[in-house]
Amino acid sequence: MYQLNNKIKNLVPYEPISGTYAIRLDANECPDNLPDELRAQLEARLREIDFNRYPDPLATRLINSFSEYYGIKPELVTAGNGSDELIFLIESAFMEKGDKLLVVSPDFSMYNFYSSICEVSCASFIKDENLDIDVDALIETVNREGVDLVIFSNPCNSTGRGITRAQAEKLVSSVEALVILDEAYMDFWSESLLDKVEDYSNLIIFRTASKLVGAAALRLGFAVANPTISRAIKAVKSPYNVNSVSQAFGEIIYQQKEYLKNRKKTIVKNKEMLYNGLMELAKAQEDITVYSSVANFVFIKTNQSRQIWEYMKRQSIVVRLMGEYLRITAGTTEEVRAVLAALNTYFEG
Ligand code: PMP
Repeated sequence: MYQLNNKIKNLVPYEPISGTYAIRLDANECPDNLPDELRAQLEARLREIDFNRYPDPLATRLINSFSEYYGIKPELVTAGNGSDELIFLIESAFMEKGDKLLVVSPDFSMYNFYSSICEVSCASFIKDENLDIDVDALIETVNREGVDLVIFSNPCNSTGRGITRAQAEKLVSSVEALVILDEAYMDFWSESLLDKVEDYSNLIIFRTASKLVGAAALRLGFAVANPTISRAIKAVKSPYNVNSVSQAFGEIIYQQKEYLKNRKKTIVKNKEMLYNGLMELAKAQEDITVYSSVANFVFIKTNQSRQIWEYMKRQSIVVRLMGEYLRITAGTTEEVRAVLAALNTYFEG
């Protein structure tokens, strides 16, 4: 009888929340679909695709468009089937069995999840009481413990807090470990290290088209690193990891500079509105702590997290429950109004 091995036998497939809800604020997605004019361009492009042919393994046109948007060199970029693919790929290829991975806590859970499959040891560096990373203490831990790879999101999913560019550079230049900064939410802030990857032998930055860019359906993630690391990532990835439709659509979407600029403004404005509304609520409710956020969501702490989450679901609004915390994505202006109104009604009741 075939037996599943120990590292996979207790794993369960990822299951997003089931059911239909009028308002989805649980996955930090962009609240609006791509506009009609842009979708018309994508449709026209669809007709040019050679479906009988394999995709371009180097995603050349997509990467050129991405690099032009961010003002970086295309040679430094590798495209992935979402950053999720890149996290798994890089953790498994850049570490050897028994190596030491360090994650920070709280943070995006997938970094830790994949480590069990890679057979590396994974330790957590705990953030301070404001949910910030003490960078000096992190450097000390990485060096003392002989960590091989440290990975975290900046800005952080779930807290919405971030470390500055100067702090990130201090970390990268003070350790020998490989540092992966997952900048999935950096499109909403301005402390990116993208323009610095060539200065370091030990830095990889991830970006994604799933958040500001509003194309989560395409599964497009990017790893940016110096030429030596980029070459290695390209060598270990599967040849046709990004399909031709996603390559072609991504190429067009990253050309929409004006559109993306406006989208950023709107989402940041709605995030502020959500934050201010939650702060108002917190003034009257001792049980709520609201963390200021540089991303497209707001993180709150409350002893009633589960009750609030259940109540919201009954109002057809879904937010993310994480223990004693709730993470609420900044949706459209109407969605932010609705979530604040529901919270106020909950507390009045
Ligand atoms: N990194 C972080 C920090 C995220 O929050 C997410 C999505 N929730 C991802 C990576 C995954 O991004 P992608 O859709 O590109 O796989």
